Amino acid sequence: MRPTLAVAAPAALAVLLFSCGRAPEPVDLLGPGERLVEASAAGTGREAVLEAAPRGLRLNDVVRRGFPAGPPGRLRFALDIPSGARLQLACAIDPRFHERPGVEFVVKVVRDGREEVVWTRLLDPIARAEHRVWVPVDIDLAKQAGRGRELVLETRGYEQPGDPRRAWWGTPALTVARRAPLAVVYLVDTLRADHTGVYGYPRKTTPELDAFARDAVVFDAAIVHASWTKPSVASILTSRLPGQHRAVQLRDPLDPSNVTIAQRLDERGWATGAAIANSVIYGAESEFDRGFDVFTGLHGDDDQRSKLVGADVVVDSALAFLRSRQGMPTFLYVHTMDPHVPYAPPPPFDRMFEPFPTEEHPARDPRTDYKEPLDRERMIAQYDGDIAFGDREFGRFLRELKAAGLYEDALVVFLSDHGEEFLDHGSWLHGRSLFDELIHVPLLVKLPGNRGAGTRVSEQVQGLDIVPTVLEAMGLPLPGDLGGQPLQRTLAGGSKPRPALAEVSHRGFVAHGVRTEGDKYVRRFSPDDDELYFDLLRDPGEKASIAERHPERVRLLQAQAEAGMSPNPFRYVVQVAGRGRFALKLETRGWIEGVEATGLGPDERSSLGGNGRWLELRLRSRPGAPREIGFAVRPVGAPVTLAGTRDGRPLRPADVGVGDGSFHPEAFPFRLPDIESETERDRGINLFAASRTGAPGVQVWLALPPGRKIQEMDEESRERLKALGYVGPG
Ligand SMILES: [Zn+2]
Repeated sequence: MRPTLAVAAPAALAVLLFSCGRAPEPVDLLGPGERLVEASAAGTGREAVLEAAPRGLRLNDVVRRGFPAGPPGRLRFALDIPSGARLQLACAIDPRFHERPGVEFVVKVVRDGREEVVWTRLLDPIARAEHRVWVPVDIDLAKQAGRGRELVLETRGYEQPGDPRRAWWGTPALTVARRAPLAVVYLVDTLRADHTGVYGYPRKTTPELDAFARDAVVFDAAIVHASWTKPSVASILTSRLPGQHRAVQLRDPLDPSNVTIAQRLDERGWATGAAIANSVIYGAESEFDRGFDVFTGLHGDDDQRSKLVGADVVVDSALAFLRSRQGMPTFLYVHTMDPHVPYAPPPPFDRMFEPFPTEEHPARDPRTDYKEPLDRERMIAQYDGDIAFGDREFGRFLRELKAAGLYEDALVVFLSDHGEEFLDHGSWLHGRSLFDELIHVPLLVKLPGNRGAGTRVSEQVQGLDIVPTVLEAMGLPLPGDLGGQPLQRTLAGGSKPRPALAEVSHRGFVAHGVRTEGDKYVRRFSPDDDELYFDLLRDPGEKASIAERHPERVRLLQAQAEAGMSPNPFRYVVQVAGRGRFALKLETRGWIEGVEATGLGPDERSSLGGNGRWLELRLRSRPGAPREIGFAVRPVGAPVTLAGTRDGRPLRPADVGVGDGSFHPEAFPFRLPDIESETERDRGINLFAASRTGAPGVQVWLALPPGRKIQEMDEESRERLKALGYVGPG
């Protein structure tokens, strides 16, 4: 306990000073603009500099707010420099200028009219690879402390003034050692609750987490709202269900209408940071970076993306962020992903649990390495080794918080975004079903002052509860639009059990369910087409669906599940052109809705039947007068098929074209394209454009309603996602 005691004294001193009204306070130089008395960058003025600051620069997947500083650049702040202050910031050169001569960054302090250069550095991205990323800077300003100072940040170049965004001062702040609120959400991707010691696993995978549990409240029934990363994390960070935040599929960004916990705290002047290993979250177009001062997407050795980043790198990044915001109220989101495929823990964790992998049986990925039943055991042993490695790093993270005097008063929420399947129900990996091995996650909450430490809560809680829990713990008001409730209320026994909705629409696996403390209902739309109902008290392993025996209960839960379903982000458009008589039938296991038909004559019709399960079209088109029918489908990803006749004979492949490339179906009924389950054939075809050929017959494409966006998939993001099994062979 020595380190903790060692830091207790300065912390107590800080409190004492504060009570005398003399405690130094940190200064966020990106904060209120009145301190900034002069600002220019490459010829542009203060307004342009301030306007660019909140967005900052994305460099090598690190998004950092900051001031543009294209040389010659000058920022002059009039302020008091607190005693013991450090100037913490990062410098960068925009990648568009990495092949150009460097930029010199200079920091000066002016006191009593005298100017003193306190620091300079030349960033030279041509010669030095380490200057092609954000370069952190930590300058001791203790000697310059005092009232009525000026802090000057200058840049100089060796070329004519150019682009103001060529260089950047990232997140400049004067930090001081003092106590301040800290809230941490620490998420371990793909961690099954039942593979941790605190939830009863016999293997010693998580000694650090088990020790942490003594300071925390342990929630025995925590349910997340999706079985893969993006929708689950979006619900955790926004307190909205997937049907509301709509970051459901690979190509859905987190729409700006969703306010994240980072934004809520940022609005109140908190320092906000994230250290993230999963590119699904940190990818350029995913839009999870809103509200963060520093949003760090981490790469592995040799700049390899994602899974190859160990928790050690993530924890280092998280700790560096905390150091750079010392003394400020801080929110930190940490996202490690060691247990995700490929299962490949570093030594000695690869030899921690038996059976060990062999050269013929590498046990890294079930899609390639499952050749015999023992391979399952090998993969579980490697998965457990990954958990143990991540656990060691979680322990290191906590020890560093303690050493910095931050632990005791901090809120630390530990959880996972989903679990993993090991043939429990016939599948591998995640994002394919909604069984409990996927949606029941570990959730441990260490409240400030370790309130409720050691308590176990059996009541079912959910991912939506994280945002209100953070706000409540920090003494902030709860906005009315949150879907969850603070876990402090659950701990106090003041809440009613609530059902949890969960869904998946990923790579052609589409299901929606609702879980209560006693039972669970799941409607599967694809590839299965059925309903499941389990009595979780008698059958916690969800082995036998008994939907037929409980029709009334099933109907009730079904209505709850359906209420959470949202339609595809796009609409289907079916166009019939040229001369001909067409009878088309579109069928879905979900619901066709919002049908709009244009150009139809009196003897033509479009009729919706089967409670939205099918749409029949009888069309008699003429050249130059195409018929067009648009419709939406709910839920997201529900398959739609097309079949029919042309001039009385069955449709042929050549009668139907899809997207701008007009590819033809192989057979009928034909499953209409979807943006998630794209095949190799779909690559290079723009599904969001009508055919360019103008051929007569049936054309199908997708249309985005105004205001909706989907992410582009460039070759690099595709490769990254492939490495993690999000695209490519299933
Ligand atoms: Zn995940």
